[in-house]
Parts: sequence; structure tokens; C-alpha cells
Amino acid sequence: MLITANPAPETCGVEGERCRNSHHHHSDASSESPLGGGLLEWEAQRFQRATDCLGIDPAVICVLHCADRSIEVKIPLERDDGSLEVFTGYRVQHSTALGPAKGGIRYHPGVTAAGVTALARLMTWKTALAGLPFGGAKGGVPCDPTRLSTRELRDLTRLYTVEMLPVIGPDTDVLAPDLGTSSAVMGWVLKAATEAGSDDPGLVTGKPLVLGGTPFRSKATGVGVAHVTDLAYQHIGGRIDQARVAIEGFGSVGRWTAVELAHRGATITAIADITGATYAEKGLDVTALVEWTDRGHPLVAFPGGTRFGASVLTVPCDIVIPAAMEGTLNDDVAARLSARLVVEGANGPTTLGAETTLTTRGVGVVPDIVANAGGVISSYFECVQNHQRMPWPETEERDRVLDRLDMTWSLISDAPADEWRNRALKIAISRVIEGMTARGMVLPGTIGAVPNQGGPR
Ligand code: NAD
Repeated sequence: MLITANPAPETCGVEGERCRNSHHHHSDASSESPLGGGLLEWEAQRFQRATDCLGIDPAVICVLHCADRSIEVKIPLERDDGSLEVFTGYRVQHSTALGPAKGGIRYHPGVTAAGVTALARLMTWKTALAGLPFGGAKGGVPCDPTRLSTRELRDLTRLYTVEMLPVIGPDTDVLAPDLGTSSAVMGWVLKAATEAGSDDPGLVTGKPLVLGGTPFRSKATGVGVAHVTDLAYQHIGGRIDQARVAIEGFGSVGRWTAVELAHRGATITAIADITGATYAEKGLDVTALVEWTDRGHPLVAFPGGTRFGASVLTVPCDIVIPAAMEGTLNDDVAARLSARLVVEGANGPTTLGAETTLTTRGVGVVPDIVANAGGVISSYFECVQNHQRMPWPETEERDRVLDRLDMTWSLISDAPADEWRNRALKIAISRVIEGMTARGMVLPGTIGAVPNQGGPR
């Protein structure tokens, strides 16, 4: 195992002259590389804008932005044909200033150290903003899970877990599902940990129910995205039961977003996944689409819709929800987007250029760290139920998650729409600094003016 405090190719992302740590300036992560560097750069620029507003000491900025720990492991997997293939596993624990690190594991060919670092930082801001006693982390393995058998995926997961065991645990770093991983994968993580003598179910969230998972967790991110969409659309004067919505992604997040929005009366005009987009001007039958894809048919061939050739985010509608991958809402898509509101179901779907285009046109972008926080909030309640050894009714967990999303949204909703993301980041960063200061990681007086923003604790 290789453990470094500040690994290449990561940088703290702070402009060279403002950061006193000369050891990590500067990789080429600034290019919008398809391998995750783009997200690192967007996050760093947004972070810098927020810290500029807060007037924080540059050295503190650097401590705040660099990961606590970054791990890269080797995963030698025996394939079904008997050959050996070596995969790489990443885990970045960005911050534990407010509690154990927390974040998903991603299985996707585009996973890189830089991308995982950026996603870990987003987790820190997300948990802080939602007032959860967690820090931020992310992990992943560059692989295509659709080309691995169930046995191969299980063994990959077990090897990843065993390598990470020295640094993960219910009180240090709690794992969860993300792109390309599911509750079944979380069950395998738990089993590998149990065999190694660590049998606390609080090590992972998004577990199968039989292992201490909760019925609401699998729906929580998407239902939360739908709830925040409802709140934000009302805020700009709309009514969700009159809204036409396009959704990109029909996985854990996209499908539950669609189901919940349809339940609230919205017209789901178009939905896309990796196979393409399906469109129906009068609205798609979401339940029928769930059944269609569950039976293994390609979404794009859904008989209740017609194929839409361009990006689904450019379909004429009121609200678009990118809920698939980072960077899909790029300059080109932004120029052709007609909606009044964008809600970031995915992490980092909007590029910097696209965001400028949208906000100049008066289109509000609800940032990922608010919009998709329902997932990690539900994960927190899963940990609470595990510690209590007492499952709650699903409705109780749902109500508590939505209540906390109401509070989180209310932290940014009185800012102008083009300030929503910056407001969210400023509050999150202030809270993390508060945690660092309370732990003596930075001394009072070095920080500059950090406003007390209130909100859920
Ligand atoms: P998933 O693997 O369950 O689903 C991903 C979906 O996106 C699939 O339908 C896939 O076909 C589609 N997709 C992939 N590439 C696409 C493309 N280029 N165009 C259109 N569709 C494409 O993943 P998920 O868990 O739903 O995660 C989606 C996003 O939400 C990620 O950014 C993830 O980090 C974020 N997120 C997930 C959770 C969670 O609880 N699962 C929580 C917060 C944020």
C-alpha cells in the first residue's frame, strides 16, 4: 500500500502565489481532461472564489484544500478465463475536521486520482453544508463493471476492501455506493471487512436491508433531488405540477428523481441513459419505463417515447436535471439549453464555461452539494439506526431527510440565483474551518473573517 499526504497529480488547487506549499505546484490538471482533471479544476476555481470572498489566510486555504490522506492500491484480479488483470484502487480522505470521512466508491473506466480527489472535496463541502458529523472522502476503481462478471466484481470489491482496511472504519472513513456500484457491492465490502475481524455495519452505508441497510437509502438521493427541484422551482415562481422536466441518467439517482417528480405531478418530457434519450412531448410513463429497463431493454428503445438524437439537456422544457456524469453540461449544451432551472443531480455536471453562460442568461443552477445531499443525509441516518440497533419506519427516515434538505436549501435560497453555489461553498468552508480550529489544526486569528452562517448543525 502506498500512502502519501499530498500525492501527485493532486494539487491543492490554490493559485501558486497564494499557496505557500511549494511541493505540489502545479500539475496539468488545469486542462479539462476527460479523465477527471476537468472536475478538479472546476472545483478548485469555485473553491478559490469562495475563499477569496471569505478573506482566509492562504496557508489555511492550503490546509483546507489538500487531502488528509490519499491512497492508491494494486488489485490483482483473476479473471474468469484464468488470466490475471491488475486494476488500481483509489481512496482519498479529504477532510475529517467535522467527523469520520464519508463518501462513495465509483466503478467506471474514467476514474482517475484527480477525479476522485475532486469528488472527495465535494463530499466535504456537502456533509458540512447539511450539518452532518462527517468529513469527505471518495474512492474508485477504473474499470467497466458492465464487462466484469458478478464473481469478478465481487472479488475486485473484496481485494479493494482488504487493501483499504487499515484506513477505513465506522469511526474513520465510511464507504457508500456511487456511479457503477450498488447495495450488493456494499454487502461484499462488509463481508470482506468481517472476515478480517471488523464487523461493525457502520463501516458502509447503502447496504442490503438484511445487513442493516434502510429501505429509503436507495431512493434517497433521487427523491432528495426531486424535493430540492420542487423547492427551487417554487422559489422562482413555478409549480412543479405544471413543469416539464428532462433528466439525464436513469441509474440510482435519475430513476428515483423521475419517479418522485412524476408522483408530484411533473411532466417528464425526456430521459436519457448511456444508450441514448427517449422523448414524449406529453410526458413519459415513468413507471412503464422503469419496468422496461428492469426487464433488460435499452432505455432508448422504449416504445412509449421517440428517440432524441442530441443531448437530453437541450430538450425544450422548464427544468433539466443532469444526473449521470460530471461535465455533461458543457458550453455547447448550455448554449442550446432552453430550461429556466438546472438542478445538479450528478456531482460536477456543469462546466465553468457553461455555468457562466447559464447564469448570464438568468438560468439558476442548484449546486450538486445541495441538490444531491439527500443520499449522504440518508447514509447518516443509516449509521444512526445501526448504532441504535433500531430501524426506523421508512416514512420517518424520508421525513427527516426531506426536513434536512429544507434546511440546507434555506441556507442558499435567499441569495441571488447566480450566487447559490458560492453561498453554499462559503458556508461549508466556514464550518470546516470552525472544525479545524476547534481541533487546534489552525489557531484562531490566522483565519480572517469567517461569518457565522447558522443553519442546520
Ligand atoms: P448509476 O451508475 O446508478 O447510474 C448512472 C446513469 O447514468 C446510468 O443510467 C447510465 O446509463 C447513465 N449515463 C452514464 N453516462 C452517461 C452519458 N454520457 N449520458 C447519459 N447517461 C449516462 O450512478 P448514480 O449512483 O445514479 O450516480 C449518478 C451521479 O450522481 C454521479 O455523478 C454520482 O456521483 C452522483 N451521486 C450519486 C449518489 C448516490 O447515492 N448514488 C449520491 C450523490 C451523488
